[in-house]
Amino acid sequence: MRLSDAELERYARHIVLPQVGGVGQKKLKAARVAVIGAGGIGSAVIPALAGAGMGRLTIIDDDEIELANLHRQPLFRERDSGHPKAELAGQFVQRLNSFVDAAPLQVRIDAGNAEALLTGHDLVIDGSDNFATRLAVSDACVRLGAPLLSGAAVQFQGQVALFRSRPCYRCFVGDAFDAEDCDNCAELGVLGALTATIGSFAALLAINAILGIGEDAAGKLHLFDGEKLAWRMIVIPADPACKACA
Ligand SMILES: [Zn+2]
Repeated sequence: MRLSDAELERYARHIVLPQVGGVGQKKLKAARVAVIGAGGIGSAVIPALAGAGMGRLTIIDDDEIELANLHRQPLFRERDSGHPKAELAGQFVQRLNSFVDAAPLQVRIDAGNAEALLTGHDLVIDGSDNFATRLAVSDACVRLGAPLLSGAAVQFQGQVALFRSRPCYRCFVGDAFDAEDCDNCAELGVLGALTATIGSFAALLAINAILGIGEDAAGKLHLFDGEKLAWRMIVIPADPACKACA
């Protein structure tokens, strides 16, 4: 794989970094990443990864834009209300970086289709808004051996964790949430700037994971408190009885 002159110019501030270089930039170009949810988290993750030059960005979201999304979803504008999020997020990616292959999918990902939709991706980033989706995505990632980066935000609290097969997201939350399909943001509210913080952190972690920068973040939960303005990290233990990864 080669980088064209236009790509070398475009990614010059990346390539000059010793941790990235031309080799790292080619790794980003070779990466196929699936982003689930073009919502608050996705609105930070998608531009960051498109700008970074991911080779392929699959964007999976079955939802349409509502006015109440706009305080945390700067991918969209007022006039986009009622339009499909995946399609508009895909257009955003193509306008930002034509070297990225954007693949928008306006489908609801669930236990029945997750494995088929996620096959062939090097990393899956889940910023969806409910536990049923998150567990279906996690179980599919465990079966596929695909790393899963999970980001969530509600009120002033956010969290990001990377999972590599074991421990998995199901080890972390348990089985109780399988049937629950709550929209936390609608019920509890969320600060728009918080979803951007969590999404940006998730994008940074994604890039580090693809490039192999720093120590491997897998199995660690990063928690951010938007009132105390403090991050903390806890290690997630593998559940010996986990029905997905044990
Ligand atoms: Zn597990």
